[in-house]
Amino acid sequence: MNHFHYKGGVLHAENVSLTDIADAVGTPFYCYSTATLERHFKVFSAALPKDSLVAFSVKANNNLAVLKTLANLGAGADVVSGGELRRALAAGIPPDKIVFSGVGKTKNELTAALAAGIYQFNVESEPELIALDRVAEGLNRKAPVAIRINPDVDAHTHAKISTGHAETKFGIPWSRARDAYALAASLGFIDIVGIDMHIGSQVSDLAPFEAAFAKLTDYAKELRASGFAISRIDFGGGLGVPYRSDNAPPPDPSEYGRLAAGALKGLDAQLIVEPGRLIAANAGVLVATVTYVKHGENKDFLILDAGMNDLIRPAMYDAYHGIVAVEAPLPDAPLHDYDVVGPVCETGDCFARARPLPPLKSGDAVAILAAGAYGATMSSAYNARPPAPEVLVKDDAYAVVRPRLDDDAFLTADRIPDWLRKA
Ligand SMILES: *Cc1c(COP(=O)(O)O)cnc(C)c1O
Repeated sequence: MNHFHYKGGVLHAENVSLTDIADAVGTPFYCYSTATLERHFKVFSAALPKDSLVAFSVKANNNLAVLKTLANLGAGADVVSGGELRRALAAGIPPDKIVFSGVGKTKNELTAALAAGIYQFNVESEPELIALDRVAEGLNRKAPVAIRINPDVDAHTHAKISTGHAETKFGIPWSRARDAYALAASLGFIDIVGIDMHIGSQVSDLAPFEAAFAKLTDYAKELRASGFAISRIDFGGGLGVPYRSDNAPPPDPSEYGRLAAGALKGLDAQLIVEPGRLIAANAGVLVATVTYVKHGENKDFLILDAGMNDLIRPAMYDAYHGIVAVEAPLPDAPLHDYDVVGPVCETGDCFARARPLPPLKSGDAVAILAAGAYGATMSSAYNARPPAPEVLVKDDAYAVVRPRLDDDAFLTADRIPDWLRKA
């Protein structure tokens, strides 16, 4: 469910025409819908036990206005860097709703998070445990820790976003989990509070979750029996979203919620979840203009003013994104196969191959759908292209929530060293 619909022949975000925004802001731009973000967050939260913490995965979308929209609904945050921590705090997410994941937290990041008083460190290795203990000792403050266990289940998702099998860098393997808890218990400034996992992203059926939830909760019971204080169970994120309408839809968020709640029954532990994509993907589109229609030897190319630097998912994960014309085509318009590409000098700068679309011409706007998660956050300035600006819509209002960097700011960020100045 999302709030991008045609009204009067033009694609709208809620009650704002994307053409109006394009005229004011210029393309390409990201556009997010408040009502969609809110709906996804509410539906998912409602399916979970009352005192659960829904920690939005900031790496999916770190725009301050998006984070604040979710903070107002009671969202927490799952952060994976000091930069994301700063953003979560700046958006008004209370520190006691922030969890910190990631395999390479630096001493500076651990210090900042501990000083801020975050809720939980999801620790991914023994050396990180020791580093965190030292930092905590320096601040004379105990660090609340859940250990991320690699449950060794295959999430059946794209290899680059699969994190829960034994071959990935994430989490501590089962075989060493008990020793890691023993190590944590032996450290003076570590406070064991829970257990954590995250099996991957865009997981599109419930079976891997079911298997991993069962493994983790069984293990939590064992740890408790051995005297470790496990009061929180963090199931991570990863629930998939429908990127294409012709595939079987992913599980309903409320079914996932019921499964998670069921797995926790009788455990008397707080549930923590870290959804990213589920909340933000369908709440955003990337709007671009057709620069040229180019006839190749065997095919036609639709060359857009958005490129892989703006949205890298198709190039990086072979991801499918729906693409529609912003001005609704006539119902009987013939479809034509286009390769939809960007201007970046890379063959991989391609959003879709042989995609059937209504006839389009130079100057027409298109919307690349379900781009609200892992879109803007993964953008870069490759080809000296400043990343696309971001716009947030609420009902009939919109605001530019991350402007396009102006060309001068972009250029003057670099410095010429003295030896190049002296001719
Ligand atoms: C990326 C990530 C998430 C969010 O994953 P989604 O697929 O966007 O829900 C949650 N937890 C951790 C540790 C992550 O790395």
